[in-house]
Amino acid sequence: MDNFDYDLFVIGAGSGGVRAARIAATHGARVGIAEEYRYGGTCVIRGCVPKKLFVYASKFSEEFEDAQGFGWSLNGEPTFDFQKLINAKDQEIARLESIYRRNLERTNVEVHDTRAVIEGPNTVRLLASGKTVTAGRILIATGATPNADQGLEGGEYVVTSNEVFNLDKLPERVMVVGGGYIAVEFAGIFNGMGSKTTLLYRGEEILRGFDDDLRAMLHEEMDKKGIAVKTEDTIVRIEKSGEVYTVHTKAGEAIEVDLVVSAIGRRPNIAGLGLESVGVEVDAAGAIKVSADSQTNVESIYAVGDVTNRANLTPVAIREGHAFADSIFGNKEWTVDHSMIPTAVFSQPELGTVGMTQAEAQKLYKNIDIYKASFRPMKNTLSGRDEKTMMKIIVDADSDKILGIHLMGHDAGELIQIIGVTMVMGATKADYDRTIAVHPTAAEELVTMREPSERIRS
Ligand code: FAD
Ligand code: NDP
Repeated sequence: MDNFDYDLFVIGAGSGGVRAARIAATHGARVGIAEEYRYGGTCVIRGCVPKKLFVYASKFSEEFEDAQGFGWSLNGEPTFDFQKLINAKDQEIARLESIYRRNLERTNVEVHDTRAVIEGPNTVRLLASGKTVTAGRILIATGATPNADQGLEGGEYVVTSNEVFNLDKLPERVMVVGGGYIAVEFAGIFNGMGSKTTLLYRGEEILRGFDDDLRAMLHEEMDKKGIAVKTEDTIVRIEKSGEVYTVHTKAGEAIEVDLVVSAIGRRPNIAGLGLESVGVEVDAAGAIKVSADSQTNVESIYAVGDVTNRANLTPVAIREGHAFADSIFGNKEWTVDHSMIPTAVFSQPELGTVGMTQAEAQKLYKNIDIYKASFRPMKNTLSGRDEKTMMKIIVDADSDKILGIHLMGHDAGELIQIIGVTMVMGATKADYDRTIAVHPTAAEELVTMREPSERIRS
């Protein structure tokens, strides 16, 4: 290994790559990293972080309305300066990016501002300088990139999450295409900021793969907020006339908007990376195939994060990078458990979910009990807002083990983090029952649901 320039060379300074590089360096490895765009990767630059800032910004419209029920009055209409938000967001992202770079440098990771491609099992070419570097191990952490609807007439008019954080102006009317995480989050963001928003989804119900009650209830709440959620329909053609786009759909609608945002999934970022030159295997979706310890079929090459398409979330990429670095350079072998991943959708209202959906539980367990509460949270009494909170616990009736918990409502993301801990510990319904409630909260409902709302027997 000593003859190589580095012990480890990381391609991609996003969530997974940065964590792996820093941990390996703190274990004493000589580490280099290449980033072709901006340090921090998707999450920091054009994903989780700016998204959450936009969610906060968009929620104020309802907060202003709700405040009146509590006695506040506003002198005149509150106004929203989109450009001011963009500028503030840009500053914050630049601050975070510089912290990411500084933290790498502080741990003696050599940073290279360049695209890198693989040329051999231990060789990487840095395109900015044209130089090659060698490393005992190469870690691919190049993330994913938004899908495009290939062949769509007018597809060139569509923006993706890569562009949506840097719009010149807030569209008056917007169409968001897709029914996954990004689509529902952006439908809420635009609607809250004041755009007339349509969400167009090809399937029967938004958020395929989530619990059916969550999907249906979120859909209902989005409708109530004035978002036009159109399911079982797709775009067939987009026409541009001046600054206006007419979206023609399969169902025969022609909808005029000022912006079309496509959020139809992401694919592993492997194009032009040189994988073929060394024979790194990928699956049918283009994801790099790895073992539980993130090793590819080429002994010296590893991959973590979205490029492996295991669970495409920042904390998962970070954990995979950390496990890799500890195992290879820190003499501490461990692997990531992908079986119990709490996750939140920053829709409005927010969702939090961990464990099995009811449909999954019904397939795997003979007898299950469903505990479900749907209610108007206290904050919405005085404000008069007609928005529900929903909490659902799925229990294996034979062992009493909790199989899944699904939430919709204020701070569902914050709650599901802690609920996730109880799930990882193997909580039973009896554990929740013997936990004393915190009053008055919405979360107390989780420990006070005594009778199942449904008993499903084989
Ligand atoms: P990335 O963070 O994508 O990093 C890959 C890096 O590699 C990039 O910086 C890229 O420029 C660089 N790169 C690629 N190829 C090369 C090359 N050849 N040479 C040099 N550099 C290269 N996850 C959550 O957990 N919570 C959220 O709220 C959330 N919100 C999201 C919102 C949006 C709009 C999007 C798009 C994603 C969101 N995600 C969220 C997902 C999360 O961003 C990803 O799961 C995470 O960033 C994956 O980390 P990664 O290290 O695999 O890749
Ligand atoms: P998702 O995989 O979540 O959703 C993709 C959506 O696009 C689905 O509704 C899918 O429909 C639809 N779709 C796919 N192909 C087409 C097509 N050709 N035409 C029309 N619709 C199509 O992807 P996203 O892009 O929303 O997000 C990517 C990933 O990023 C997420 O899966 C998640 O891992 C991560 N993320 C996490 C967030 C969080 O933690 N809060 C937030 C944002 C992203 P169908 O269901 O029918 O296949």
